[in-house]
Amino acid sequence: MFGIKFGRKVKSPVEQMHCDHKWHYEFNSGGGLCESNDYRECKRCGLVEDIYSESNFIKYKTKVFLICPVRNATGYQKQEMASYIENLESKGIDVYYPARDTNQVDDTGYRICKDNLNAIREANEVHIFWDKDSSGSLFDLGMAFALNKPIFIANGCDVKLTDGKSFANMISEWAKKSDLK
Ligand SMILES: [Zn+2]
Repeated sequence: MFGIKFGRKVKSPVEQMHCDHKWHYEFNSGGGLCESNDYRECKRCGLVEDIYSESNFIKYKTKVFLICPVRNATGYQKQEMASYIENLESKGIDVYYPARDTNQVDDTGYRICKDNLNAIREANEVHIFWDKDSSGSLFDLGMAFALNKPIFIANGCDVKLTDGKSFANMISEWAKKSDLK
């Protein structure tokens, strides 16, 4: 999505040691296609580290809320999401998956929305498995937006950008502006 910026100024190891790092996370293994390709880069000193190396792993206690189609999710989507979640969880990342973690039995849907709201508030990253036809996803997106959450698109290939304004364009810009801690 962003790519490493080669040729940028990187500070000396001593300066890096004393830097109050401001990490930018780069996830390239979403969906489990290419593991050990995820890294973080300090925007201040240029230090690049493997996110999942033993020492970083402990510091990186991320809680992810996955916005995704639930009611009308296709078999294919469910499979893709399962492998995405499995990949994150295998690295010790806490994933909130509404289809599994929110009780989906509700006469009106009000309590489901409340439960999701609480979980989104708890999360420090919101990942979205984009499906333009999922109205529940749009509702959750609005909450995440209001709560100022950084967003990461789990299935970037399925986000079809348009000429004018659209939610596909909107989440794509939001993802670019997101500062994953
Ligand atoms: Zn730094």
